[in-house]
Amino acid sequence: MNPTPPSANAGRGASHHNQPSESITMHIADIFTERGQTFSFEFFPPKTADSAASLFDNIAELVPLKPSHVSVTYGAGGGTRKVTHDLVVRIKQQTPLEVMPHLTCIGHTEAEIYDILEGYASAGISNILALGGDPPRNAPNYDRSLDAFRYASELVQYIRKFKDRHAGTAIPDPRGFGIAVAGFPEGHPSTPNRVKEIEYLKAKVDAGADCIITQLFFDNRDFYDFRERCELAGISVPIVAGIMPVTSSSGLMRMADLAAGARFPASLLRAISRCNGRADATRRVGIHWATEQCRDLLDNDVAGIHFYTLNKSTATREIYASLGVETSLDLAADMPAS
Ligand code: FAD
Repeated sequence: MNPTPPSANAGRGASHHNQPSESITMHIADIFTERGQTFSFEFFPPKTADSAASLFDNIAELVPLKPSHVSVTYGAGGGTRKVTHDLVVRIKQQTPLEVMPHLTCIGHTEAEIYDILEGYASAGISNILALGGDPPRNAPNYDRSLDAFRYASELVQYIRKFKDRHAGTAIPDPRGFGIAVAGFPEGHPSTPNRVKEIEYLKAKVDAGADCIITQLFFDNRDFYDFRERCELAGISVPIVAGIMPVTSSSGLMRMADLAAGARFPASLLRAISRCNGRADATRRVGIHWATEQCRDLLDNDVAGIHFYTLNKSTATREIYASLGVETSLDLAADMPAS
């Protein structure tokens, strides 16, 4: 476990967690230094007023867990530009959470990306998850020739230089935006060459990424091997493990489709099939599996765990409870309390 004690500065993120605050903002690099291991949550922009209300109820239940940060996804093909922005700003203004928007290359000119970054800078946002992005589901032959950036590495480079071009509102941190990028422990479908894949990932880090957040996976051995391959390639930024508990059989099918290539271990499939379609049993098995993954990752010095919450709080809260973690600040504790 990372023995880094919370510094005097850690209070910026920690001590005010019960009230919203506009002033709390932390560069992602500092979050890793000050928190030791991190727990973060991912949300997606809701489509209706009812689902937005439900999301904020769930967020209210997650706030006491004191995640190091939360993130908000960006729709395929750039389709949620306004709703992602609005949700990010609402979380920033109405909760004490450090919020990191996702941003994709796909579907954007340079001027649009500039405007989006400008909007986030003036809203006091410190960190961005820079992604290549997927084409809209209904447009598999999407024409990328109008996109300013082809690969996430180019977007990272642009975001990194943004502070030099940007004469308007100050970005909260003099270093500019903190930048996270995506990693794929089981490979990415467009790059079957697993050696090239790590070279491309390294290019994102060399362009200025501060950390890597992975695609979901169900067998930690895939993550550990990925982490070792990154190390061999000279990638030294924190690598955060993406975890999504299976909570239903239909959810499993959706995951298999969305996270194309993710391997579902036979042992997990057998355990789910023993539930014989009983929803509560399936949920318990899925959450137990994810909890065991988290426990093992923490024991093996993972830099952080990113929970794909699907806008719900229950599974994440149950995992915290089973890990014996009351808030994410407990992750800094190295030894059992006497
Ligand atoms: P890139 O790094 O650009 O890579 C895309 C593909 O191109 C990979 O196969 C890579 O190996 C290859 N490649 C990279 N550089 C080169 C090069 N120089 N030459 C040739 N090939 C190259 N999608 C969304 O639309 N919205 C989201 O909010 C979102 N959030 C995500 C969050 C996480 C944590 C993860 C893991 C994924 C997320 N995705 C999201 C999905 C992601 O955008 C897609 O999987 C996308 O196809 C890959 O994104 P990337 O950032 O890795 O892209």
